[in-house]
Amino acid sequence: MAQLELNHISKSFSGTIAVHDFNLAVETGEFISFLGPSGCGKTTTLRMLAGFEIPTSGTIRLDNRDLTLLPANKRNMGMVFQSYALFPNMTAAQNVGYGLKVAGKPKAEIEGRVNEMLDLIQMRDFARRYPNQLSGGQQQRLALARALAIRPQVLLLDEPLSALDAKIRLELRQEIRRIQQHLGITTIYVTHDQEEALSLSDRIVVMRRGVIQQVGTPQQIYNNPAGDFVAEFVGHINLLPVEVDQPRQGIVRLGSQLIRAGQFEHLNGRPVRLAVRPEELKSGFVEGANNLTGKIESVTYLGAIVRIRVDVDGHLVSLDMFNERALNIPAVGQPYAIHFPVGACWLT
Ligand code: ADP
Ligand code: MG
Repeated sequence: MAQLELNHISKSFSGTIAVHDFNLAVETGEFISFLGPSGCGKTTTLRMLAGFEIPTSGTIRLDNRDLTLLPANKRNMGMVFQSYALFPNMTAAQNVGYGLKVAGKPKAEIEGRVNEMLDLIQMRDFARRYPNQLSGGQQQRLALARALAIRPQVLLLDEPLSALDAKIRLELRQEIRRIQQHLGITTIYVTHDQEEALSLSDRIVVMRRGVIQQVGTPQQIYNNPAGDFVAEFVGHINLLPVEVDQPRQGIVRLGSQLIRAGQFEHLNGRPVRLAVRPEELKSGFVEGANNLTGKIESVTYLGAIVRIRVDVDGHLVSLDMFNERALNIPAVGQPYAIHFPVGACWLT
């Protein structure tokens, strides 16, 4: 049975719909990400879970108990914000122990739990430091320890890594997953960063303008996006405007060139686009079929990967290849052939 349930949750702010008919059931110990662009309703949904906002309609249940209207401090949830929100006048240890002190726990218990939490985030040696004597990454680990100290049933994180440098962000991302799995705690993680969502989550909820677009595992979201928005938001994708040429054979035309791209019965006469991920395309002419030819428009080095953009009859096609295979890329303006594996293409 699902531990946490959101049933038909909606939220409006003086006429503006921030979240519309949000439904989700979260299992115990699951790591769920809310992923979507800025303003799509991620924070609002998280704040309704935490008890900082009351839904306009719908219910929230935890272990079959309705907590839609319950105050935040009665919900047994821990929350971590982007801005750390530590108490500046308290030491690291006092920050971590704050929730337990408010709850009136005995001193010995608080001390034991604080040490346990500081060990968990590997910051025992920093117990007496104040927040302004700690790095951003350390402050955020402390905020995590503070949220966990009350032993919440659910951990809520709102873009907890966005204020940190790239390297620390990556370290702390792995740290969050390690701690979450170690504790087996049900976690909701808000982010606009698809890489974070893909690498951390058991399941991802992709949102747009307050509406869920797709719920699925990282593999499902990436390999079978529920629509163009998800396909474009998660990873890179070519969406090429094509015209149907031979419906039975699944053949379409891009500019003046023909290509086999798969089924289009499901399209019902809508304008057709050919969807294919840049890393699925193959460089060069493959004997047999399904090659398009064009001219190289640009070559961009992205570290491990090189992205080549090819102008095919006025349409730009992106192709990614690993750096070590990219030694013999012709110069910009040169002719170039791309092979489209049939199984990697779909029509939308
Ligand atoms: P996200 O976290 O995905 O960036 P938010 O949940 O913060 O999105 O915001 C969703 C929408 O709700 C936005 O249009 C935002 O302007 C609006 N919104 C959020 N909080 C309030 C508020 N307190 N008052 C009015 N509008 C709000
Ligand atoms: Mg937000």
